[in-house]
Amino acid sequence: MSKLYIVASPIGNLEDVSYRAIKILSQVDFIFCEDTRTSLKLLNRYDIKNKLQSFHQHSGFKKVNKIINYLKEDKEIAILSEAGTPNISDPGASLILQVKKELADKVEIIPIPGASAVTTALSVSPWPADKFIFLGFLPNKKGRQSQLKKIIDYPFLIVLYESKHRLLKLLNELSNPEKENNKKIDIMIARELSKKFEQLIFGRPEQLIDKLNNNATMLKGEFVLLLRVNK
Ligand code: SAM
Repeated sequence: MSKLYIVASPIGNLEDVSYRAIKILSQVDFIFCEDTRTSLKLLNRYDIKNKLQSFHQHSGFKKVNKIINYLKEDKEIAILSEAGTPNISDPGASLILQVKKELADKVEIIPIPGASAVTTALSVSPWPADKFIFLGFLPNKKGRQSQLKKIIDYPFLIVLYESKHRLLKLLNELSNPEKENNKKIDIMIARELSKKFEQLIFGRPEQLIDKLNNNATMLKGEFVLLLRVNK
């Protein structure tokens, strides 16, 4: 039976990859990855000589068909996203759905667990993280305000991804429900996890806006936000 491996890769530090992932990446017939340059760094670090082909959210049917045809020929395929776990705010689901539709039980779909920014940030949460809600990136425009309104009513720790371009905007938006609803939002910003400038920054929305405005380097890199709403 053919095998499709969904392989988690590091979110920064190249040592955060499992032995199993390295073994699978060395053994499969083809690796499809979101970003060939990033994945090549990982392959080079572990002396993996395998071939890389690109597969990203704009790849379309042709690429999906190519993967399905390889699977029909009993080839083993690995999927890598640019960083972390495929399918978590990254491509994955539509390929898996199509593979299941076309090949049903003729293919094994095998997860190779590893790093993800969401679980890495949660692992250092000062607030209980046994229940949480992961919203990924909030929509840019349509639906953003209604999501923000809902956020303050979730009874769990909330996890968001946000880009450096919208971090201050998001904090500004979060300071509104604080003022309007008399609810306090405690935030942990996990910046550049596992990388050289890793940093955990804590505060309420307005305090964080001040901190970031006073230190522009804090606005560089990648961010996960944990929000705890106190009623
Ligand atoms: N699939 C990835 C995962 O499993 O975490 C997420 C991919 S998503 C396109 C990229 C977002 O993940 C970034 O904008 C940021 O919010 C978060 N992220 C990824 N790496 C990170 C890191 N090293 N530190 C903090 N956040 C990170």
